[in-house]
Amino acid sequence: MTQLDRTGLILSGACLVHCAVLPLSVLVLPSLGGVLFDHSSLLHWVLLGLAIPVSGYALVRGYREHRERSGLLVGMLGLILMGLGVSHLLAEDLEIPLTLSGAAIVAAAHLMNIRLLSKRPH
Ligand SMILES: [Zn+2]
Repeated sequence: MTQLDRTGLILSGACLVHCAVLPLSVLVLPSLGGVLFDHSSLLHWVLLGLAIPVSGYALVRGYREHRERSGLLVGMLGLILMGLGVSHLLAEDLEIPLTLSGAAIVAAAHLMNIRLLSKRPH
């Protein structure tokens, strides 16, 4: 159970690091930044493809245990933002900010889920 939450945290954390480091690497090392930037969408698809089943499963199972909808709703919002970002549905320029905020929200949802589960009487 918490193992899934941890995996979800690692996935969203990987994207946070990637999205935060990416603009910096473009400034510091333009050639490396270019390589990373070209592949950023691919990496985001992979991360999103892993985050949807892992985070979805962890948050739904958490909800079934603690019956608190907030973690589930926050997690869904985060995944939707990540999806909007990577699909370029709104604008390609918004990929990084949308993915970054989506991943941060997904991470927050897992932290909420972990806290709610630990508060539950055993
Ligand atoms: Zn990223």
